[in-house]
Amino acid sequence: MEETPTLSELFRPDIESLEEYVPIEPTEVLAARLGIPASDIVKLDANENLYGCSLRVQEALSSFDRYHIYPDPNQRELRELLAGYAGFSPEKILAGSGSDELIDLVMRLFIVPGDEVIVCPPTFGMYSWSARLCGARVVAVPRDERFQVDVERVLAAVTDRTKLIFLASPNNPTGNLVPLSDVVRLLQTRAVVVVDEAYYEFAGSTVAPLVEEFPNLIVLRSLSKWAGLAGLRIGYGIFPKEIVDQLWKIKQPYNVNVAAQLAVRATLEDLDYLKQVIHRIRLERGRLFRQLRKLNLLSPYPSDANFILCKVVRASARSLKQWLENRGIFVRYFDTPQLKDYIRISVGRPEDTDKLMKALLEAAAL
Ligand SMILES: *Cc1c(COP(=O)(O)O)cnc(C)c1O
Repeated sequence: MEETPTLSELFRPDIESLEEYVPIEPTEVLAARLGIPASDIVKLDANENLYGCSLRVQEALSSFDRYHIYPDPNQRELRELLAGYAGFSPEKILAGSGSDELIDLVMRLFIVPGDEVIVCPPTFGMYSWSARLCGARVVAVPRDERFQVDVERVLAAVTDRTKLIFLASPNNPTGNLVPLSDVVRLLQTRAVVVVDEAYYEFAGSTVAPLVEEFPNLIVLRSLSKWAGLAGLRIGYGIFPKEIVDQLWKIKQPYNVNVAAQLAVRATLEDLDYLKQVIHRIRLERGRLFRQLRKLNLLSPYPSDANFILCKVVRASARSLKQWLENRGIFVRYFDTPQLKDYIRISVGRPEDTDKLMKALLEAAAL
């Protein structure tokens, strides 16, 4: 009798050897570990909007009575709304369950095993994670010492197998924009350039109008950060026609759920409120930056997003992260060689800054 194969012989070998993605932990888990109420947690680790979403979202979700009906697979109303907001025609728009889904769809559209995807670390981890899952070879071209994209080196790294170049602008976790001229230079290659503008609303600067001009540019946006809808999973892309036509063939029919679609409508009906929130966060970003710089413990980097990357200069980043965590304050800590002594702090409300600064001042006095 033949021996039954073990499960591990059945798994895709590339997945067995894949590193696990380390996600941030839910508030309830953090609170339970510290033995404090979830409402006492100061959550500055995931760039969420601590003002929350528009109250109209909650009203729209609670009064809706057709959750038993599937969403529109063509996203007609949703694309009209997003197109109106972004200023592009609906034919160029495709929405996803978060922009994370769109990153994944773009990979699936272009990558066959052995193709190359260029990323510029330190940057958002989903690009290389998603690329590896599709069997791509991830070509990392590190940013320079000021965390700018090294365009010359990216150009030199492009080969016959390069399919995609991923750039976040503003970049997570460094907070800086990619200059438009750099994007234009990379668009001269035969690769598709994906500019991830998840933090566009905090920066106010975009390369999206170039999609009309370049058939190889994709711009991704998200409602997770500025609109406070991270939990509902909604993002969208602005795509050249040729690319979006192919994406329609591979997306799951019901990828964006009804609640997320309702939330987009309610959000866009309350845009004045959200613009106020964005304005407050931008002001708070300035206030937090100035306070952090005075500390003599951290060296903050200027940011166009809703977070500030800091080099920890007088302690280890790990111990500082732990110090804050013991006080219910969560920041993002990186354990990579390029970001060994860094933490990333999301910009919250003034009261969040105050609690953070109190704890940091105590740490600085040690
Ligand atoms: C947060 C973030 C996203 C994720 O957006 P979702 O729409 O929540 O999937 C995408 N890109 C970058 C750079 C981010 O920081």
